[in-house]
Amino acid sequence: MSADPDCIFCRIVAGQIPAKKAYEDDELLVFHDIHPWAPVHVLVIPKQHLESLDGVGPEQVPLLGRMLALAPRLMRELGVTNGYRTVFNVGRDGGQEVPHLHLHVMGGPRPWARG
Ligand code: AMP
Ligand code: ZN
Repeated sequence: MSADPDCIFCRIVAGQIPAKKAYEDDELLVFHDIHPWAPVHVLVIPKQHLESLDGVGPEQVPLLGRMLALAPRLMRELGVTNGYRTVFNVGRDGGQEVPHLHLHVMGGPRPWARG
């Protein structure tokens, strides 16, 4: 599985940087965002290093489907009952700060810090 030693999320996958994990399987890892915008804010990432949504091709469609399909289950398990947001930031103008594909899933009672 491809990894980038300089990538912060690859380093979380490798266990070199701590994270509060919410879910893990062979392909995906979910952990709580270190600067949450909402009462519940997790990041769903593929374990393999993919830079952003912009770089994905047909072979990643099942992976993307699994990332999105995990959101309702995660929110239920984390006690979110009244709706949530799912966000992919893509590239510089899209506000992407970490160049490893990730899906933000945010929920919980408003007001939120951002978003
Ligand atoms: P983006 O702006 O879409 O690239 O979002 C990257 C997100 O990763 C931001 O919301 C950061 O707060 C979050 N983040 C960065 N480093 C860590 C980390 N070590 N553990 C958890 N979340 C992180
Ligand atoms: Zn990476």
